[in-house]
Amino acid sequence: MHTKTKIWLSHPHMFGKEQRFIDVAFRENFIAPCGSNISGFEADLEHYLKQDCFVAVLNSGTAAIHLALILLGIGKNDEVICQSNTFIASVNPVIYQGATPVLVDSETDTWNMCPELLEIAIKDRISKGKKPKAIIAVHLYGMPYKVEEINSIAEKYEIPVVEDSAEALGSSYKNQKCGTFGDLSILSFNGNKIITTSGGGALITKHKALKEKAIFLSTQAKDKSVDYLHSNIGYNYRMSNISAGIGRGQMLALDKYINTRRQNYSLYKERLKEFDSIRFLDEPKHHFSNRWLTCVLTESFSKREELRTFFEKENIETRPLWKPMHQQPIFKDVPKYINGISDELHNKGLCLPSGSNLTENDFDRIIHCFTEIYG
Ligand SMILES: *Cc1c(COP(=O)(O)O)cnc(C)c1O
Repeated sequence: MHTKTKIWLSHPHMFGKEQRFIDVAFRENFIAPCGSNISGFEADLEHYLKQDCFVAVLNSGTAAIHLALILLGIGKNDEVICQSNTFIASVNPVIYQGATPVLVDSETDTWNMCPELLEIAIKDRISKGKKPKAIIAVHLYGMPYKVEEINSIAEKYEIPVVEDSAEALGSSYKNQKCGTFGDLSILSFNGNKIITTSGGGALITKHKALKEKAIFLSTQAKDKSVDYLHSNIGYNYRMSNISAGIGRGQMLALDKYINTRRQNYSLYKERLKEFDSIRFLDEPKHHFSNRWLTCVLTESFSKREELRTFFEKENIETRPLWKPMHQQPIFKDVPKYINGISDELHNKGLCLPSGSNLTENDFDRIIHCFTEIYG
């Protein structure tokens, strides 16, 4: 048993207005996957993202990626290029569709998909008679990927992009919000994301008809008929009206949460600046990160482990950077284009507590751990 209170990596942070929207759902008795909070939350997101996009809210980000692949017609034996440096939910939906992920490694400026390696992979797949059907690119930890480079390669080879913006609500590239750069884009509102609906996600499209199709597929694909006629396979993927109510309340605080998480990053950088071997990922020009998680790179695997286990002892949750997908046993046989960068990030990197509800005392405890190890 720990005597010190736990400091979480990214803990839910309620704003206080969420309950009001939930009360509306109770008053209207829409304790269901339909109701005014759902359309309200969708309108809030559409307004926030701008760029004339249409949003369908769903019960997870994973469901959103799955529907995106279905809407793009990805099926059995197709290949889909995926960022290897990510959380597994970015890639699993490719398997749900019976397709094959092709893993592409990262660059060092944003830690996201390397455009040069992407083009090498596309050319190589084409030469093998397997032109990729889609590209799933991820804004990891809130840092936008190289949008222009990735999009121009996608356009050159006419391959649609699914933008996994699960960690990047509020991030932007050249002042345009992440979530608006893909042919289809997704968000997540899981418990540890920048805003939470307890569990939830969203699919974003430029076309009203695709939004409607996503909603149709997410509600069991029931045809317009009184007697439950089905001519498509559907899913039970729609968001609950209660969850959407939480989302509406959370949206009111989004800008505040982004500012606080960005402040966390600056505070860490300032208070750790005496330790030369600790490195941070600064924003390249035009890239604005919501700083969902602040991550640092140490000088070696053993130093990272020393640090991580010390945090654990102090009841502070930290986490190595994602174990890349090409290191996952379940993806050991898929095609991969690897340059060693995500392996190194995984070995040397640590995600630090980054919630928008960290206290000054929490920070003192966290910095103390660094001083113990590096001081
Ligand atoms: C969280 C996350 C997802 C999945 O979202 P869920 O809502 O948890 O299903 C997908 N991709 C990335 C990069 C994530 O961090």
